[in-house]
Amino acid sequence: MELPDFLEFEAFNTLRERMGTDQLGYFEVFDPTRHLTGEERAELRTLGVRVVRSQLRMLGDHTLSFKNSRIGVIAGDHLHVTRCKSMESLEEGLAVSGDEAWQVASEAQDRPVSVCADCLHQLRFEGLDLDKERKQHHNRKVIAAFSLGHYFSLHPDYPLYEKTHVRHSF
Ligand SMILES: [Zn+2]
Repeated sequence: MELPDFLEFEAFNTLRERMGTDQLGYFEVFDPTRHLTGEERAELRTLGVRVVRSQLRMLGDHTLSFKNSRIGVIAGDHLHVTRCKSMESLEEGLAVSGDEAWQVASEAQDRPVSVCADCLHQLRFEGLDLDKERKQHHNRKVIAAFSLGHYFSLHPDYPLYEKTHVRHSF
Protein backbone atom coordinates (compact mmCIF):
# COMPACT_ATOMS: atom_id res chain seq x y z
CA MET A 1 0.00 0.00 0.00
CA GLU A 2 1.32 3.43 -0.84
CA LEU A 3 0.91 6.08 1.82
CA PRO A 4 -0.08 9.60 0.83
CA ASP A 5 2.67 12.20 1.03
CA PHE A 6 1.47 14.37 3.90
CA LEU A 7 4.02 17.05 3.07
CA GLU A 8 1.92 17.71 -0.02
CA PHE A 9 -1.34 17.52 1.92
CA GLU A 10 -2.85 20.99 1.79
CA ALA A 11 -4.95 20.75 4.96
CA PHE A 12 -1.96 19.75 7.06
CA ASN A 13 0.23 22.42 5.55
CA THR A 14 -2.40 25.06 6.29
CA LEU A 15 -2.69 23.78 9.84
CA ARG A 16 1.08 23.87 10.27
CA GLU A 17 1.10 27.44 9.03
CA ARG A 18 -1.66 28.43 11.43
CA MET A 19 0.29 26.87 14.28
CA GLY A 20 3.11 29.19 13.35
CA THR A 21 5.57 26.39 12.72
CA ASP A 22 7.33 25.45 9.53
CA GLN A 23 9.18 22.68 11.26
CA LEU A 24 8.21 19.12 10.69
CA GLY A 25 7.92 16.94 13.74
CA TYR A 26 6.98 19.89 15.92
CA PHE A 27 3.85 18.68 17.60
CA GLU A 28 3.50 20.83 20.66
CA VAL A 29 -0.20 21.43 21.26
CA PHE A 30 -1.01 24.90 20.05
CA ASP A 31 -1.92 27.32 22.82
CA PRO A 32 -2.57 30.88 21.59
CA THR A 33 -1.68 32.33 24.99
CA ARG A 34 1.82 30.83 24.74
CA HIS A 35 2.38 30.37 21.02
CA LEU A 36 2.37 32.94 18.24
CA THR A 37 -0.20 32.46 15.52
CA GLY A 38 1.01 32.61 11.93
CA GLU A 39 -0.64 36.01 11.69
CA GLU A 40 1.16 37.39 14.76
CA ARG A 41 4.44 36.04 13.45
CA ALA A 42 3.92 37.91 10.18
CA GLU A 43 2.90 41.10 11.99
CA LEU A 44 5.98 41.01 14.21
CA ARG A 45 8.08 41.23 11.06
CA THR A 46 6.06 43.82 9.18
CA LEU A 47 4.07 46.08 11.53
CA GLY A 48 4.86 45.00 15.06
CA VAL A 49 2.44 43.77 17.72
CA ARG A 50 1.29 45.95 20.64
CA VAL A 51 2.24 44.29 23.90
CA VAL A 52 1.82 45.14 27.56
CA ARG A 53 4.49 44.52 30.13
CA SER A 54 2.94 41.33 31.53
CA GLN A 55 3.20 39.69 28.09
CA LEU A 56 6.98 40.06 27.99
CA ARG A 57 9.56 37.66 29.38
CA MET A 58 13.30 37.76 29.73
CA LEU A 59 15.05 34.62 28.50
CA GLY A 60 18.01 32.91 30.15
CA ASP A 61 20.39 34.77 27.83
CA HIS A 62 18.77 38.08 28.88
CA THR A 63 17.12 38.67 25.52
CA LEU A 64 13.39 39.41 25.37
CA SER A 65 10.54 37.19 24.32
CA PHE A 66 6.85 37.44 23.58
CA LYS A 67 5.03 34.10 23.68
CA ASN A 68 7.42 31.57 22.06
CA SER A 69 9.59 34.00 20.13
CA ARG A 70 12.50 36.29 20.72
CA ILE A 71 11.63 39.92 19.96
CA GLY A 72 12.75 43.51 20.29
CA VAL A 73 10.49 46.11 21.90
CA ILE A 74 10.02 49.63 20.62
CA ALA A 75 9.11 52.11 23.34
CA GLY A 76 9.32 55.83 22.61
CA ASP A 77 12.41 56.60 20.59
CA HIS A 78 14.23 53.37 21.32
CA LEU A 79 14.34 49.77 20.27
CA HIS A 80 15.17 47.63 23.30
CA VAL A 81 16.54 44.10 23.25
CA THR A 82 16.90 43.40 26.97
CA ARG A 83 15.55 44.77 30.23
CA CYS A 84 17.63 47.92 30.52
CA LYS A 85 16.98 50.64 33.09
CA SER A 86 14.41 52.46 31.00
CA MET A 87 12.48 49.20 30.50
CA GLU A 88 11.90 49.02 34.25
CA SER A 89 9.06 51.52 33.93
CA LEU A 90 7.70 50.15 30.64
CA GLU A 91 3.95 49.73 30.54
CA GLU A 92 3.46 48.91 26.90
CA GLY A 93 5.42 48.80 23.70
CA LEU A 94 5.56 47.48 20.18
CA ALA A 95 7.10 44.02 19.80
CA VAL A 96 9.00 43.57 16.53
CA SER A 97 11.05 40.81 14.96
CA GLY A 98 12.32 42.42 11.80
CA ASP A 99 13.86 45.54 10.29
CA GLU A 100 10.73 46.21 8.25
CA ALA A 101 8.61 46.57 11.40
CA TRP A 102 11.31 48.76 13.00
CA GLN A 103 11.31 50.99 9.93
CA VAL A 104 7.50 51.20 9.83
CA ALA A 105 7.42 52.18 13.51
CA SER A 106 9.98 54.93 12.93
CA GLU A 107 7.95 56.33 10.05
CA ALA A 108 4.67 56.09 11.95
CA GLN A 109 5.91 58.25 14.81
CA ASP A 110 7.74 60.67 12.58
CA ARG A 111 11.03 60.47 14.40
CA PRO A 112 13.70 57.86 14.16
CA VAL A 113 13.70 54.97 16.59
CA SER A 114 17.30 54.11 17.43
CA VAL A 115 18.62 50.99 19.05
CA CYS A 116 19.07 51.38 22.82
CA ALA A 117 22.79 51.57 23.58
CA ASP A 118 22.17 50.60 27.20
CA CYS A 119 20.52 47.33 26.06
CA LEU A 120 23.47 46.55 23.76
CA HIS A 121 25.82 47.32 26.64
CA GLN A 122 23.99 44.94 28.97
CA LEU A 123 24.17 42.15 26.41
CA ARG A 124 27.76 43.17 25.50
CA PHE A 125 26.45 42.83 21.97
CA GLU A 126 29.38 42.42 19.54
CA GLY A 127 31.72 43.44 22.34
CA LEU A 128 30.05 46.83 22.91
CA ASP A 129 31.01 48.15 26.33
CA LEU A 130 30.03 51.69 27.29
CA ASP A 131 32.24 51.61 30.39
CA LYS A 132 35.45 51.27 28.42
CA GLU A 133 36.86 54.53 27.14
CA ARG A 134 39.03 52.76 24.56
CA LYS A 135 35.96 51.13 23.03
CA GLN A 136 34.20 54.37 22.09
CA HIS A 137 34.99 54.02 18.41
CA HIS A 138 33.99 50.35 18.38
CA ASN A 139 30.76 51.12 20.28
CA ARG A 140 29.74 53.75 17.76
CA LYS A 141 30.39 51.32 14.94
CA VAL A 142 28.29 48.58 16.55
CA ILE A 143 25.39 50.98 17.15
CA ALA A 144 25.52 52.39 13.62
CA ALA A 145 25.66 48.93 12.05
CA PHE A 146 22.93 47.41 14.23
CA SER A 147 20.07 45.74 12.40
CA LEU A 148 17.45 43.32 13.63
CA GLY A 149 18.33 41.03 10.73
CA HIS A 150 21.84 40.72 12.14
CA TYR A 151 20.61 40.52 15.73
CA PHE A 152 18.28 37.63 14.95
CA SER A 153 20.98 35.87 12.95
CA LEU A 154 22.91 35.70 16.24
CA HIS A 155 19.87 35.21 18.49
CA PRO A 156 17.23 33.47 16.35
CA ASP A 157 13.70 34.65 17.04
CA TYR A 158 12.27 31.16 16.68
CA PRO A 159 12.31 28.42 17.73
CA LEU A 160 13.62 29.01 21.23
CA TYR A 161 15.74 26.15 22.45
CA GLU A 162 15.59 24.62 25.89
CA LYS A 163 18.81 26.12 27.16
CA THR A 164 17.56 29.64 26.63
CA HIS A 165 14.02 28.73 27.45
CA VAL A 166 14.30 29.68 31.11
CA ARG A 167 11.99 32.62 31.43
CA HIS A 168 11.77 35.34 33.98
CA SER A 169 8.70 37.45 34.17
CA PHE A 170 9.24 41.06 33.50
ZN1 LIG B 1 17.13 49.52 26.40
